[in-house]
Amino acid sequence: MTRITEIRASTIGFTENRSNATMDFSEMTLGLCAVVTDVVKNGKPVVGYGYGALGRYSQESIWRERMIPRIMKADPEALLNEAGDNLDPRKILKVMIKNEKDGGHGDRAAAASGLDIAMWDAAAKIADKPTAQLFADAAGRDSVPEKVAVYVGGGYYVPGKGLKELQDEIHGHHDDGFTFIKIKIGGAPLKEDMARIEAVLEVQPNDCLMVDANSGFDLKLALDYAKAMAPYKLRWFEDPGPTLDYELMAEVCAAYDGGMATGENQMSHDDCRNLVRYGGMRPEKDFFLFDPSWTYGPSEYMRIVTMMEENGWSRTRLYPHGGHLVSLHVTAGLGLGGTEAYPTSFQPVGGFTDGLDIADGVCGLPDAPGFGFEDKKKLFAIMKKLTDDLPQTKTAAA
Ligand code: MG
Repeated sequence: MTRITEIRASTIGFTENRSNATMDFSEMTLGLCAVVTDVVKNGKPVVGYGYGALGRYSQESIWRERMIPRIMKADPEALLNEAGDNLDPRKILKVMIKNEKDGGHGDRAAAASGLDIAMWDAAAKIADKPTAQLFADAAGRDSVPEKVAVYVGGGYYVPGKGLKELQDEIHGHHDDGFTFIKIKIGGAPLKEDMARIEAVLEVQPNDCLMVDANSGFDLKLALDYAKAMAPYKLRWFEDPGPTLDYELMAEVCAAYDGGMATGENQMSHDDCRNLVRYGGMRPEKDFFLFDPSWTYGPSEYMRIVTMMEENGWSRTRLYPHGGHLVSLHVTAGLGLGGTEAYPTSFQPVGGFTDGLDIADGVCGLPDAPGFGFEDKKKLFAIMKKLTDDLPQTKTAAA
């Protein structure tokens, strides 16, 4: 019988010198976890790795104080699939959040996501499949696409970065194979931001450019930006106001004819459902960006996709935020529209596996069992410190 023998956790820093409309990332941390199993492959224990949430600080204490003890205390059989030959991450999610009161989804949701990611990584390695395939199997989908549409999240505010440097950044994204590009707005006065958008539009088609205000506007400023940007006919205007202000979102949607996007800061199935119900978002032109690394993980994400469809939305209107391997596998496995990519931000977690080709705005999928963390060399060098005393998983580079 498959058993979890141990769960380990640690915290790393990013120390990145960049910011958006509302946050400075220089003190950001991230929680890493490793689920060790008694399944042995090639003489080594199968280990699943996970991380809490990019951009939401480490939840190591929630893991150590609440979630890991609950999993380790549970009847091992209650954590397995029906055949009893592999972990069942969806059952384990229920165990780790047992006795947590309803509502108030925040760091707890991000913490659960990190462990859920590690459980899926372990289960996929035990099943000898890429995690995308395991997601497709679990969701009853026939196949996994060979390629996934990706866009790059960039255009951050960096001290000393002017319009020329911003255009240079866009050229760099083109060189890296991206066609859809997103830049930040709201970190400068409106007039300056319009000059930034116009500078980018000199080198980027309007309908392939998105802008992200990172929840930084009040209603008046959101409407001012909507009015100023309307002539540009951009692909989407993201997160104008506070995450839980559905009325503001609905008012901006009603006033703005272009595409809108939001949802990356919803932390649970119920938060996402409220946004779908009351945010004024339009199924024919708008996009949701729910993030599988902080909505109680991929296990809960499957319920969120079902909820969207029940409310009249196509799953192809879903573009998971995050720009990392988990979002890539979730997008492929669940047949979503596309996903963000962070080739340079949030390193070493941001971006996909080393050498994975991005061209014409689409990206292939890693074919290693699990998420493929082992083939993202700089990330795995840090992850494997959690399990350095165990026999190591072989990496592609080894
Ligand atoms: Mg965003």
